Amino acid sequence: MSDHALSGPADPFDRLPSLPADGYATHEVMNQATPFAGHNAFTGDRLLNEIAAHENVGWARPLLVDAGATVASARVAELARDANRHPPELKSHDRFGHRIDEIAFHPAWHELMSLAIGHGTHALSWTVRKPGAHVARGLLSYLWNQGENGICCPLGMTYSAVPALRLQPDLAAVWEPFILSTRYDAAAAPMQRKTGGTVGMTLTEKQAGSDLRATQTTARPAGPRRGPGEAFLIDGHKWFFSVPHSDLFVTLARTDRGLSCFLLPGWLPDGTRNRLLIQRLKDKCGNKSNASGEIEYRGALAWLVGEEGQGIKAALAMTHLTRLDFAIGSAGLMRRALSEAIHHVSSRRAFQRRLVDQPLMQNVIADLALEVEAATLLAFRLARAVDDEQAGDSAAAPLVRIGTPVAKYWNCKRVVGVVHEALECHGGNGFIEEGPMARLYREAPLNGIWEGSGNIIALDVLRAASRSPQSVPAFLDEVRRAKGGDRRLDTMVARLEAELGVPQEHEARARRIVERMALVLQASLLIRHSPQAVADAFCATRLDGDSGAAYGNLPAGLDQRAIIDRARVPAGAGLGDA
Ligand SMILES: Cc1cc2nc3c(=O)[nH]c(=O)nc-3n(C[C@H](O)[C@H](O)[C@H](O)COP(=O)(O)OP(=O)(O)OC[C@H]3O[C@@H](n4cnc5c(N)ncnc54)[C@H](O)[C@@H]3O)c2cc1C
Repeated sequence: MSDHALSGPADPFDRLPSLPADGYATHEVMNQATPFAGHNAFTGDRLLNEIAAHENVGWARPLLVDAGATVASARVAELARDANRHPPELKSHDRFGHRIDEIAFHPAWHELMSLAIGHGTHALSWTVRKPGAHVARGLLSYLWNQGENGICCPLGMTYSAVPALRLQPDLAAVWEPFILSTRYDAAAAPMQRKTGGTVGMTLTEKQAGSDLRATQTTARPAGPRRGPGEAFLIDGHKWFFSVPHSDLFVTLARTDRGLSCFLLPGWLPDGTRNRLLIQRLKDKCGNKSNASGEIEYRGALAWLVGEEGQGIKAALAMTHLTRLDFAIGSAGLMRRALSEAIHHVSSRRAFQRRLVDQPLMQNVIADLALEVEAATLLAFRLARAVDDEQAGDSAAAPLVRIGTPVAKYWNCKRVVGVVHEALECHGGNGFIEEGPMARLYREAPLNGIWEGSGNIIALDVLRAASRSPQSVPAFLDEVRRAKGGDRRLDTMVARLEAELGVPQEHEARARRIVERMALVLQASLLIRHSPQAVADAFCATRLDGDSGAAYGNLPAGLDQRAIIDRARVPAGAGLGDA
């Protein structure tokens, strides 16, 4: 017997030198950005503070400060990630085969909804009788669009539904306190058993999206026909139906007197579901946390809102505000992307310098900052006009009518490029799902589609111009409040006015006209409200042709550092008196 056999095979690990204590570390992690959290998205944002001061919404400051801290917290970042990584699932039947049509969400969705509804993000404009209530609620929406975008769909629809609801005062008296409650209640139950609820808007059918006149869903009176408020039974389908677990829906159906608008409850008073079958949920490109379904109505109970046959007009009472909310939301989404990009490039180094100190990166970030400031001012100018209109200022109505689709069109177009460029500022990390940028990127195109895609919104601006004779003069008056402030603006306004005077060329050039309208209004607002460096850079690049097709094309001689410093959200409580 050999020695080898006695002692067994030699252990190969015996021949290795002993490993250092941290034997798993291949390298020291360095030059990676820290997470962007723990700041305050309201107090740290100079522009938002200026808007709040200018629009006299100091009364909402405690709420805004709290929302600013909440949306920027590590907790909300985690909730947003979870809610999007675990999308809702349809439970059409229980295990015994009974139809239940329930939607199972990750708990993160409910926590986010509870936080945002607790701030009154869906309701503030209607629950306080204070000046600037639509601006203040808009600020909440802007902030929550930096927290998580999926929840902003039910929040925005609930906010916007109120004017449609008020077309039928007896229904409004019952439903308004319920949907404007700040006590979120996730229960799948009739309103009588809940502390608060949300509203959905269900217009789109397979054959009818932009062209709602092609709606096929039908409605027949459930009893004697007495006019608005009457109960109808609805049959048909809806091809896009977001938040299908909502408590109340604004929907369109055709009666024998034409296309009409209805309010449809999710549940019946006897505790059973309304006859609304959720067929499946959409597998979407983004907006993953939110449920968007396809449904069928099978004799669903609903109440007529407004005059029979005037359904599109009644639904428009709602869509004007959803469009405003998407203009605000897109600006908020841009702001989040910009804040992330500034944070990243301020801590990441390449070629011996911080990225933010590289001249070309400065150019990109400053250009993005201009875009965000212009988008934000545009959105809040329209929110302010809605406040004025609600307060009875008849001069504000034409500006609201034409300016809202202008802001919706342009902010929803620009957000895509801004988020893309902000993602690229992060290099490869931006493309990885662990961080927020990939999610923001998938979200960005959506606001440009729902509530009217780009062409439809551009055509709506032309419709406003031709059908509401006061709207173009009101728009030009608003822009000319900065007259003489910058010759480039004055030149562009004259060109726009000439263009608006040739109606036969309008339809095919609608996008060009609306883009010009957005740019001149943005420039006018920047000249009046922003530092000269910002207004000057905007006019040079957006009105004078001195820029390229991508961001990062600011001409030499502009104070880019000042523009970036203005847009930077500092760590900690922020700039104000939080
Ligand atoms: C995630 C998601 C959720 C949604 N949730 C809801 C919801 O809750 N409720 C609801 O009602 N809808 C919802 N929608 C539907 C949305 O509002 C529609 O998709 C949108 O209005 C466009 O309608 P469509 O898809 O039928 O496109 P189409 O109407 O077929 O339009 C296709 C394209 O043609 C363009 N176009 C149409 N007409 C013209 C014209 N005359 N001239 C030039 N161009 C034109 C449009 O701008 C668009 O680019 C949702 C959509 C998505 C993606």
